[in-house]
Amino acid sequence: MIVCKFGGTSVQDAEAVRRVAGIIKARLKDKPVVVASAMGKTTNGLLQAAETAARGKRQEALDLLGKIRERHYRETQKLLAGSAQEAVLEALGTHFKELATLLKGLAILGELTPRSMDAVASFGERFSTLILTEVLRAGGIAAELMDARQCIITDDNFTRAAPLFDLTDAAVREHLLPSIKAGRVPVLQGFIGSTRNGITTTIGRGGSDYSASLVGAALDAYDIQIWTDVDGIMTTDPRMVPEARRVKVISFDEAAELAYFGARVLHPATIVPAVRKKIPVHVLNSYKPEQEGTLITDEARPCENPVKAIAYKKGITIVNITSTRMLMAYGFLRKIFETFELHKTSVDVVSTSEVSVSLTLDDISKLWDVVTELRKISEVNVDGGKAIVCCVGDNLRNIPGLAHLVFTAVQDVNVHMISQGASAINISFVIDEDRLPHAVRSLHDVFFQKLDPNIFE
Ligand code: ADP
Ligand code: ASP
Ligand code: MG
Repeated sequence: MIVCKFGGTSVQDAEAVRRVAGIIKARLKDKPVVVASAMGKTTNGLLQAAETAARGKRQEALDLLGKIRERHYRETQKLLAGSAQEAVLEALGTHFKELATLLKGLAILGELTPRSMDAVASFGERFSTLILTEVLRAGGIAAELMDARQCIITDDNFTRAAPLFDLTDAAVREHLLPSIKAGRVPVLQGFIGSTRNGITTTIGRGGSDYSASLVGAALDAYDIQIWTDVDGIMTTDPRMVPEARRVKVISFDEAAELAYFGARVLHPATIVPAVRKKIPVHVLNSYKPEQEGTLITDEARPCENPVKAIAYKKGITIVNITSTRMLMAYGFLRKIFETFELHKTSVDVVSTSEVSVSLTLDDISKLWDVVTELRKISEVNVDGGKAIVCCVGDNLRNIPGLAHLVFTAVQDVNVHMISQGASAINISFVIDEDRLPHAVRSLHDVFFQKLDPNIFE
C-alpha cells in the first residue's frame, strides 16, 4: 500500500486533475490511498472571504465566494460530463450554500474565531476531493470519497491542531482498511481533521503533507509520495535560485531540519510519522511523473558536498531580552521560556550573553502579550523584518572550515544571530530580510559549484 498526496498546484485545474488521475491509474497495483489539497490558492481565498465577512463586508465576502464557486464549477464542467457532472455540481452547490450561510453568520457576528476559520477553510479540500473522486471513477478507477475528519483526530487548538496519534491510527485503519481490502481507492482530504467531539479542525497551513504521512504510518504503507510542482527537494528554493538542483536522496533528519527552517516543499511535521514507522518518503513532480524525485530515507549516504540544501524563513522577528535586576541569575531563562510557552509562541534560534538573551519568532500573533509579561523582569526590544538562513548537511559540525565558507559567502551581509551545534546537521544565521536573496544565492554558489553525482542531479 502507498499514500499519494497531491498538493494545491497538482490539482489546480482540469488539466492538472487529469494528470493526477493518470498518476493514480499507473499505480493501482500498489494499492494507493489518495490525499489531496484544495485546488491551488483556494484556502487563501476562503480565509479572505471569512475575514471580509467578519469585517461586516457581507456582499464583498459573498462575491469572493462566488469567484471560488465559479472556478470549481468551471473545472468540473471541463472534467466531467452527463450524470457525473450533474452529481458533482449538485454536491458542490450544497457545500457552497452552507458556506454562504456561514459567511453571512460571520458578517452578523462581526468576529472570526479560529474555530470558524477552520470550518470555512475545510471546504477547500472537501471540494477538490469531491471532484477528484468523480474524475477517477469516470476513468474506471473504483475511487471512494472519505471524510478525513473521521480519520485525523486532533486536539482543539484550531488552525494548527495537533493530531492525537493513537486515536488517528485507529480511526484511519477503521475507516480506510475495509475500502482498501475491497479493492477500492480511498480519496481523502489533506489538512483537515476533527476533535474527539467531531468539531472540524485544520492542522496548520501546508498540512496536507502531514495528513499523508499520518495516514501512511497508520496503514504501514511502504511508500509515502508527496506529489508537488517541483522536481523534488532541491538544493534551495528554485523560486529564489533558478539554478537549484535536485537532491536525489536525503535523510529524515536533514529533510526535517530543512522543512522546519522554511523549505515549503514539505510541512515540518511530515517526517515525524514516517520516522516512527521507517517509511520512505518520495517527493515527486506531478507535472513530470516519470522522473525519480527525491527519496527521504532512514540511512544517511556519504556525500562529498558538505551542505545538501539551503532553507530560509522570512518574516522573522528578533526579541532581545536584557536582565535588569540580575546578571543571569538562575531562573531567568526558565521565566523567559515559560512566558513563551504560556502564549503558545515557539522560538527558533536562541543565543545568550551574560545579561541578555536574543531569540527569533516567526509567529508574532501573541508578541505583545509576551513582551508585556517579560517587561516585568527585563528590558525587551523587538526587531522585525528579519530572515533565517539555514544550511543543512550530514555531520556539518565536524567539518573544519565550514563556518569560514559560510560567512565568507555572506561577508557583505550584516549577521544578527548565529546558531550552530544544537544539531550536528545545521548551521543557521539571521539577517535582514532584504539581504536574503543575495545571501542565499551567494551560499548556493559556494556550496554547489561541484556536485556529488551520487546525491545530486
Ligand atoms: P504543494 O502545493 O504541492 O504542497 P508547496 O507550494 O507547498 O506545494 O511546496 C512546493 C514549493 O516549495 C515549490 O514550488 C518551491 O517554491 C518551494 N520550495 C522551497 N524550498 C524548496 C526546496 N529546497 N526544494 C524544493 N522546493 C522548495
Ligand atoms: N490547503 C491547505 C493550505 O493551503 C493545506 C495544503 O495545501 O497542504 O495550507
Ligand atoms: Mg505544501
